[in-house]
Amino acid sequence: MKCTQGEIFSEGELKRFGNIELSPSAGILNYGQGLFEGLKAYRKHDGNILLFRPEENAQRLRMGAERMCMPAPTVEQFVEAVKATVLANERWIPPPGKGSLYIRPLLMGSGAVLGLAPAPEYTFLIYVSPVGNYFKEGLAPINLIVETEMHRATPGGTGGVKTIGNYAAVLQAQSAAKAKGYSDVLYLDSIHKKYLEEVSSCNVFVVKGNVISTPAIKGTILPGITRKSILDVALSQGFQVEERLVTVDDLLDADEVFCTGTAVVISPVGSITYLNKRVSYGSDGVGRVSQQLYSALTSLQMGLTEDKMGWIVELK
Ligand code: PMP
Repeated sequence: MKCTQGEIFSEGELKRFGNIELSPSAGILNYGQGLFEGLKAYRKHDGNILLFRPEENAQRLRMGAERMCMPAPTVEQFVEAVKATVLANERWIPPPGKGSLYIRPLLMGSGAVLGLAPAPEYTFLIYVSPVGNYFKEGLAPINLIVETEMHRATPGGTGGVKTIGNYAAVLQAQSAAKAKGYSDVLYLDSIHKKYLEEVSSCNVFVVKGNVISTPAIKGTILPGITRKSILDVALSQGFQVEERLVTVDDLLDADEVFCTGTAVVISPVGSITYLNKRVSYGSDGVGRVSQQLYSALTSLQMGLTEDKMGWIVELK
């Protein structure tokens, strides 16, 4: 789908996966005008295909587009384009329980621009790929290191939207952490350096007794759709949930820690390293609350339990 600045997106077309042509002075290449989304299609045991809350991705893309001075497809255009792309790639959707089809919508400034300004033309495209687990550990616990020098986002910046530059900003710390054997990096706020923000590509939760807390959305972390869904699922299962400032002390003192995201769904955290101090959670790793919420959410996403929340879109 294409669109010039100030206009609305035209109807799109399905094309075979392949390279795309861009001007060397395209807005996305020079000034980072790029936004993406990530969602998954699951195959249900009766053969139907299920999407999880695709309108939420559409709305988040629209919110991000405003911040990045880009026009965006309507919620309806977005959802219809996702459905058409998934149906055209149905053969790539793994059988039930064997993974999912990851869907990557991408909005970019594709028009040429030399001086710093929003690009004159935009392209919205979607590509897909079958996927298994995001972390090689699967539902086994991951080991995180708290990053105390580098920051993913600052107040007033673009940390709250899913723009491409946010991911370039985490590569250095993430690569260094992986080289030392950690699964990923947990970021702190850039002012006080003591409040948790998020992991490179997922939100973080701490569990203490019956209370599940996660950092409040204040513009520096991504408003994750899994995060929002887990808060509702946890409430419906009798947990107390809190969106607040969560400190490093809360983290180190937690009974359990887990991360949420479309790619990871829920990843239990087995250990946290902070300033050379390592804290482990539980003995066999996967905490009771992480396991319970993982089962509740994945069985909903795969169509194994009744969709009381109205979150599932069935394609066939
Ligand atoms: N934070 C960041 C930085 C992410 O990239 C993601 C993945 N989209 C998330 C959190 C989790 O968001 P969601 O649950 O919508 O996938």
